[in-house]
This record gives sequence, C-alpha cells and structure tokens, in this order.
Amino acid sequence: MTATANPTGTPKAKKLSMKARYGALTRDLDWAPGYVSEEEMYPHTSYEGIKIHDWSKWDDPFRLTVDAYYRYQAEKDKRLYSVLDGFAQSQGHLTLSEGKYLNAMKVFLGGVTPLEYAAHRHFAYLARQFNGPGPRFAALCQSIDEMRHAQTEIHTLSNYNKYYQGMHNFAQQHDRVWYLSVTKSYFDDALSAGPFEFLIAIGFSFEYLLTNLLFVPFMSAASFNGDLPTMTFGFSAQSDESRHMTLGLEAIKFILEQDEANVPIVQEWVDKWFWRGYRVTGIVSQMLDYQLPRPVMSWKEAFELYFEQQMLGGLFPDLALYGIKPPKHVDQAIWEKDHLSHWLHDTFYQFSHAANFTTTVPDTEHLDWLAQAYPDTFNQLYRGKWEEMGKLAEEGNRFFYPGLPQLCQVCQVPMVYCENGNPHKRAVYHSEYEGENYNLCSEGCKWIFDREPAKFRQAWLPVHQIYQGNCGGPTIPDVLEWYGFQEGDSGEYIGSVDHKNWIARHQMIEDKLGQGAGH
Ligand code: FE
Ligand code: ZN
Repeated sequence: MTATANPTGTPKAKKLSMKARYGALTRDLDWAPGYVSEEEMYPHTSYEGIKIHDWSKWDDPFRLTVDAYYRYQAEKDKRLYSVLDGFAQSQGHLTLSEGKYLNAMKVFLGGVTPLEYAAHRHFAYLARQFNGPGPRFAALCQSIDEMRHAQTEIHTLSNYNKYYQGMHNFAQQHDRVWYLSVTKSYFDDALSAGPFEFLIAIGFSFEYLLTNLLFVPFMSAASFNGDLPTMTFGFSAQSDESRHMTLGLEAIKFILEQDEANVPIVQEWVDKWFWRGYRVTGIVSQMLDYQLPRPVMSWKEAFELYFEQQMLGGLFPDLALYGIKPPKHVDQAIWEKDHLSHWLHDTFYQFSHAANFTTTVPDTEHLDWLAQAYPDTFNQLYRGKWEEMGKLAEEGNRFFYPGLPQLCQVCQVPMVYCENGNPHKRAVYHSEYEGENYNLCSEGCKWIFDREPAKFRQAWLPVHQIYQGNCGGPTIPDVLEWYGFQEGDSGEYIGSVDHKNWIARHQMIEDKLGQGAGH
C-alpha cells in the first residue's frame, strides 16, 4: 500500500521510457510481409554479397521522431533566412574580403550543391530498399536533410548571383563543364552502385572520412572572408552533418558485425571510395591555398588535422578491431599533401577561360604565405612558375592553355599528378580492356579501373566528348556557348566584369563617405 494509491482502483499505466516511446513510434510500426517473401519485398539487398542476419541490431543513435525532426529543422531555417534577408538588404556582399573570393563559392555551387540533390535522391532509394526499419528511417531523414542542403545552398548563394558572374547556370554546367565532371562522375559512380556500396561510399567514406576536409574548409573560408550567409548555412547544416557522420559510422560497424564474410567486401569499398573521394577533395585543396583573398589554413594543415590525425590516428585503430585496415594508396595521398594544390590550381589557372570562375596570379604576399605553409616544396618547385606567369600577364600575354588535357578515366581530373615520392616524374598509367587503351592518373585510379572496367569504360569524359563533337561544336567558342557561359563568367580576374564592378562599387562608397565628411 502506498500513499499515491489510485482512488478509482484501476491500475495506473506505467509511463514508457524515452527509448520505448521512440520504438513504439518508429520501428515497432514495421511488419513482416505475409503475401510476399522478404526477398521479393527487398530485392536489392542480396546481390552485393553482404550478409545481414538481424536488421534489428541497427541502433538509432538519435531517436528522432518526425515531429522533433521538423521542429528542429524549421527553427534552423528561420534563423538562416533572417540572416540572408539582413545581408541582402544591407548590401552585405560589399563587405566581402574581395570580389574574387566568390570564385570559391562558384566552385562550391557548381560542384557540391548538385551532389546534395543527388544524395537526396539516393538516400530516398535506401529508405525504400533496406529491410530494417532502423536504417530506413535514418536514410529517410538524411534524404530530407540533403534536399534541404541543396535548397539552402541555392538560396544562400542566389543573392550573390544578382551582382556577380559565373553562378547563373550552375545546374546545367554541372552536367557539362569539364572540371565539374569530376564531382558529378564521383556521385554517379555511387548512385549506380548497390545500396550497401552506396552506404559505404557516401555514408561512410564521404560523410565520415572526408566530410570535415570538404565542409570545414569551405565554411571557415566563408567566415574569414566576410561571407556571413555561407557561414550561417554551414552552421545550419552542421548538426545534420553530425547525424550523417554517426549514420556512416553506425552503418560500417553494423555491416561488419553482422557477418565476417562482409569484411573483405567492405575493405574493398573503403579502398575504392577513399581514393575516389580524395581525388575530389583536390578541388578543396586549390580553393584553400589559392582562391581565398584571406587564407584560413593550408591544404597540408587541413589534411593533417582532419584526415591524418582524426581518421588515420583516431578512427582506423578502432576499425582494426573489425579487421578493417587503413585505405589502400593512403601513403600517396599523404605524400601529395605538399604538392596537390599547386598542381591543381596551376590547371585551374591555365583553363579558367573554360570554367565558371576566374583566376589570377597570386600577389607577392600570397606567394610568401604559400612559402611558409609549404617550406619544403613551394619556393623550390612552384614559385618560379607563378612568377613567370605573372611576368607574362604583365606583358599582356596572360597564358591560357590552348589545347585540351588528357583526363583520367576514373577520377576525370586532368593527368597532372606525379609518381609517389617524385615531383619531377609525371604519373601516367594505362589499362587495356577489350582491345582499348585507357589512361589513369595514379595507382589508385588504375586499381579502381581494373576492378570494374566494364563500369568505367562508360565514363563521360568531357575532353573525349568535345573531340567526338558532342559539345556544341569544334571550336572553343562553340563549346563555351554550349556550357552556357556569359561574358565575365570565366578567364582572368583582373579586368573582369566582377573586378571592374568591385572597384566601381567601392569607389561609389568612398565618394559618398567623402561627401558625408565634408558636411
Ligand atoms: Fe548534405
Ligand atoms: Zn584518376
């Protein structure tokens, strides 16, 4: 007998724990199919060879219900959109570090935003195809997150599109422009893989292994260069990102724990998708080191912190317990950290007449910054070339490469890389498949090609497509028109439409301030 005895005499229902309440609202709603077999209902989860014995072992780390999810996301959106409004009304773009900073955002909008949308589509597919309700709901939330990321990024950058060139046609350009095929083909490769491979490719290798190398640099670049909207977007995506990272880690551990036979399959996917993703982050490397008027950190520093320390040092010892080793070819990525951005921005510089951004030779202060960030390589190997390019530009002979580069069949980056350990030897690999020769940029890409030649022989290589006459016509102006470029989208920054406008607008402000002081 207790003091709180129920006066009506009916037994009082015990309140459910948080976990039980969450279970009742989510995975307990699932049912076992009665009229069809599980195989028929979920036909895509067996052909990759992954064995799952107990889908209920998937643990949901966040326990979100639909109500909580939308309330939280709506609050973040409200905050973001009020920042965007305030920035637009106060002509905030004039307080950016410099007009050319937006070149970094043009790369982001054309290269990354369409991938958010592709991720939205494919996580929706996983939300249908996985047998277990736990991973299905996690995939559903991520699908909606990714749609939101695509929309908020477009809204965030749309204000700049009113005043600057190069952003007006990003979706079509994602499908057509040579360097954007690097990011597009990476995601197409994942979209055309099976559901488990996609989960390891995007959920784990991208969202866990490499996301900090992609997002943190872009978002801190924004904050350092006065881009409050992009920074705010970054914060609003960050809490989603931490959910996605947890999903990726949960996914790999779940698959590995289910059956020992899964380990070698997952290892090959980690090897493949580390290298695919790493090649894509090369675009980030040149952004960090060359495209920011106010640099944040070098690629080398970012790679050491977010990859070597956090992943090789923190994550992989943990995964070793499951029998997973650090990715193949990781030693080459470590060696390349002293060179990567210099090779790639050199390419961006020489081909920016055919890109949706502009480039210019770094000034002396910037070259000095690079020299201290890369004490072993920059002055020794790369500075001289920039000084030479600067001299040519001053003499009125700004250099653009007049031909088309050889692309790697797998990563689709021009073949600008060097042999592991030797910055003086250009790396060129070949594979033969059914009598045809394919060119590969590295041991990593060659290994990936040889594993799935029938897949990669189908790659849509922008340069080959131009030569085959599928890109608007045989001349550079034909191709640029097919890309949907307008005056000022591409080429040299100094003297460009954006540069002239930047100077004119700031002159106007100074004149106004000058008049004000006279009164
Ligand atoms: Fe996203
Ligand atoms: Zn490659």
